[in-house]
Amino acid sequence: MMQQPIVVVGAGVVGIATALQLRLAGLPVLLLDKGEPARETSYGNAGALAISDVIPLAEPGMWRKLPAWLLDPLGPLAVRWRYLPTLAPWLLRFAAASRPRQVAHLTQALAALLNRATADYEPLVAAAGIEGMWRRHGSLTLYQDAAEFGSAEAAWAEKSHHGIDWHTLHHEEVQASEPQIDPRWQCAVKVPAWSHVDDPYLFTRGLFDAFIATGGVFQQCEVTSLQEKSGMVCGVETLTHGFIAASSVVVTAGIWSDRFTRQYRYRVPLESERGYHITLPQAGIKLHHFIQCASESFVILPMANGGLRLAGTVELASRAAAPNWQRAYMLLDKARRIVGDFSTEGMTVWMGNRPSLPDTLPVIGPDPHKAGLYFCFGHGHLGLTLAATSGALLCDMILQQSASLDLAPYRLNRF
Ligand SMILES: Cc1cc2nc3c(=O)[nH]c(=O)nc-3n(C[C@H](O)[C@H](O)[C@H](O)COP(=O)(O)OP(=O)(O)OC[C@H]3O[C@@H](n4cnc5c(N)ncnc54)[C@H](O)[C@@H]3O)c2cc1C
Repeated sequence: MMQQPIVVVGAGVVGIATALQLRLAGLPVLLLDKGEPARETSYGNAGALAISDVIPLAEPGMWRKLPAWLLDPLGPLAVRWRYLPTLAPWLLRFAAASRPRQVAHLTQALAALLNRATADYEPLVAAAGIEGMWRRHGSLTLYQDAAEFGSAEAAWAEKSHHGIDWHTLHHEEVQASEPQIDPRWQCAVKVPAWSHVDDPYLFTRGLFDAFIATGGVFQQCEVTSLQEKSGMVCGVETLTHGFIAASSVVVTAGIWSDRFTRQYRYRVPLESERGYHITLPQAGIKLHHFIQCASESFVILPMANGGLRLAGTVELASRAAAPNWQRAYMLLDKARRIVGDFSTEGMTVWMGNRPSLPDTLPVIGPDPHKAGLYFCFGHGHLGLTLAATSGALLCDMILQQSASLDLAPYRLNRF
């Protein structure tokens, strides 16, 4: 019998899914967060279980698009130039990750996680009773014409090699499956196994409620440091609740996880890929599929009652910099070119910090030098998608069950 609980630091979707997984395995768990659960990056994401995103961000084709993107301040990628010196080590590693051999290795490692993401969510969603929020309708990636699709075809073929099932829809098929889509979009790729949730915050809160209902404990407090005894982690020091003892500690603090990797002098290049959303609760547009727009690098999440969330693009800047709300508002015109006009009544904007590592893979695993300490962060664009899988893998590690896949690509000390 374990005397002390497992302490999970950070109640975003990754921490909550991990805490619930550990509870379902019968372990005592204390989840800590400096704020309310699921109010940071996990609050406003685009709600996709993006199971076909197996190719890392630093794919070779990206470099061709980069100059045009950077010249356009409202393009899919923006950099706050003053932040460039701080960002340089991350960018150099990003460039290194785009070498063909690296891309092949990273694609395989991402696919190994993404291929099981849906199955790993099933027991958590069932335990939470939130099946109704999980829409398993597939996604459509829209292309303006055959030439635009042609430039993406090699990437889709590569995805097939990694177990992703997809097929093309011609003009009439796009119109038949989504009548709201403007006829100028000539073709689309459908990924049937892609799914989305109505509202990522409510979905994540549903998992949190299940954690509490199954006997998990939540405490609002900021963790200031990890504590150890004889080379083994024994608890955490907090701002308001002093020392809290733990049998193991799992760090799931998103973009803020580097506070704890720095404590043990790991050089982990964690940076924020900031992203924006604009939510239109009364858009009055009914869509069945999750919609991706390839040329504009943004997505449309169908929410409840005809609401829409427009989200995406990347801004490389300090995690503490003031938001540039133009990056959210610019999504309105882009979306009108896809679904026509809609009501903006009650619209809200939001910005979040995607916790990103330059090779697109998260860290999932133990600290190699401190018994009882585990890290799970850096999920970038895929935190909602990979939360259940990350939790399942950590649970296996903590229970010392043999891992169902090779965990070396996700190790903490790979940088
Ligand atoms: C615009 C946008 C769209 C996105 N769309 C998608 C999508 O469609 N699909 C997808 O899979 N992903 C998407 N993502 C990415 C996804 O949202 C993130 O990867 C995910 O939310 C990260 O979750 P997390 O739990 O690691 O971090 P967070 O949600 O940020 O949670 C970390 C928690 O740790 C807490 N914390 C930090 N430090 C401490 C401390 N010292 N003590 C106590 N608590 C602490 C914080 O308060 C926070 O609650 C999107 C992101 C953005 C910005």
